[in-house]
Amino acid sequence: MRSNVLYIEDNPDNMTLVKRALESRGYTLLQAVNGMEGVTTAEREEVNLILLDINLPDIDGYEVARRIRTSGKKNTLIYVPIIAVTANALKGDAEKALSAGCDVYMSKPINIRELWARVEAFVPSPMLQK
Ligand code: MN
Repeated sequence: MRSNVLYIEDNPDNMTLVKRALESRGYTLLQAVNGMEGVTTAEREEVNLILLDINLPDIDGYEVARRIRTSGKKNTLIYVPIIAVTANALKGDAEKALSAGCDVYMSKPINIRELWARVEAFVPSPMLQK
């Protein structure tokens, strides 16, 4: 099974943290630093799961999720798992993320064990596959 994870995130510290955490479990991390780059990367590359920051410099994560779900370029994007990751702890954000097409919602700061568990729920770690 393939294990390419696309992380759409403008904060370099979070990007580095997630890259190290996922690569240590054998995943391949694809990176996009804004929403539009995220959408085009999802359409162009083989992506098995998407981690999506909500606060992005161009279009927000909700809009990214909607565009990915309705992509006319690649219909498998209807099903690709999307995990929203955001610092907005405000009530209602989870519902907004879910209604925009995300499957799961995670709060920042990122907890590595939670990250591994959330990702592995959709895409098994290559290091655990026999
Ligand atoms: Mn951000």
